[in-house]
Amino acid sequence: MPRYDFRCRSCGDTFEVNRPMAQSSDPASCPAGHEDTVKLLSTVAVGGSTAAPAPQSGGGGGGGCCGGGCCG
Ligand SMILES: [Zn+2]
Repeated sequence: MPRYDFRCRSCGDTFEVNRPMAQSSDPASCPAGHEDTVKLLSTVAVGGSTAAPAPQSGGGGGGGCCGGGCCG
């Protein structure tokens, strides 16, 4: 059964709820009884290629933003 993380906006507590996937969007009350809770996105460990898409600079300078006067 999947586990979902919730956070209570009343007391700030975070708690986990084990429930079937069909009820994943149902509201959950925190252990203290508050109902103002939000479901947190489950932190899925996505390994592998996480190469940041670096912008390809042409090199040599010249056609930058500040060169055109748009930064002024
Ligand atoms: Zn609470």
